[in-house]
Amino acid sequence: MSRTILQVEDLHTSFYTRAGEVKAVDGVSFHVDEKETFGLVGESACGKTVTGLSLLRLLPEPAGRIVGGKIILNGRNILELSKKEMRAVRGKEISMILQDPMTSLNPVYTVGNQIAESIKLHQGLRDEKVTDEVISALRLLKIPAPESRIRDYPFQMSGGMRQRVVGAIAMSCRPNLLIADEPTTALDATIQAQYIALFQDIQRTTNVGILFITHDFGVVAKMCHRVGVMYAGRIVETATTSKIFKDPRHPYTVALINSVPRLEEKNKRLFSIEGQPPSLLNLPPGCRFAARCDKVMDKCREQQPPEVDIGDGHLVSCWKVK
Ligand code: SF4
Repeated sequence: MSRTILQVEDLHTSFYTRAGEVKAVDGVSFHVDEKETFGLVGESACGKTVTGLSLLRLLPEPAGRIVGGKIILNGRNILELSKKEMRAVRGKEISMILQDPMTSLNPVYTVGNQIAESIKLHQGLRDEKVTDEVISALRLLKIPAPESRIRDYPFQMSGGMRQRVVGAIAMSCRPNLLIADEPTTALDATIQAQYIALFQDIQRTTNVGILFITHDFGVVAKMCHRVGVMYAGRIVETATTSKIFKDPRHPYTVALINSVPRLEEKNKRLFSIEGQPPSLLNLPPGCRFAARCDKVMDKCREQQPPEVDIGDGHLVSCWKVK
């Protein structure tokens, strides 16, 4: 049985604005095991990225704050760590790949220097040993001729290679958990497929657990073992990837899967979910999907549905599901 690396319990993260409290993450729970990829999927602004930033405790302060819950990483609640202790955790036990490599890489430093930074900080190595580790990180991400590429600047590399460098920085200290926030969105389809295959390979050799944040169900199908579907700050359905595709039970999951374009349905109009998610400043008392749901009942508008386990860890929050 695989070890659980990350256990998130009833996490609440809010932003305090002039207009009021924005409940960006409102009672989210999930876990990620060693060698497992857990996908967090949902529309823009549903709370996926804020969940990732909360795990790293990198919220824009003072507006953004974790107001409740537990984040248990490698057996300890990291919400109880001091800022100094947390700095030692980032990069070493948990790291993150962001969507756009051009904004995550510094244009005036060589890629070698940028990878070396976290190796020096977390492993306390110096000189040739740092260079050896940088080369090994570039090799892990299958960057050709790593001995010479460490002297390249980001602008000398293609978009796909730059995204691999971002991956090399994240993996340089061999973290237990990697948060990948839409890492393939800026890549074309061929490079995207290579990047996914590369991370599956890295996972086999390093045992890293991956939290994969995406809005793309196609990527989820290729990359994830289990999935949590997020809507308006909450996870509404969690299951293995095959169950989510074969037997989705929450009406929002069904609608999201129906929105994926299919090659065999060329002449059909694309399906879209009518309406907008509720404002996170002013959430409704009942089910958050009620205003857009074709199965809505009176009860849905009054009370929030509880999370129900319908078997084998398939969790659904919907009054229609028993
Ligand atoms: S609880 Fe009601 S409104 Fe919400 S998803 Fe289920 S059926 Fe639809």
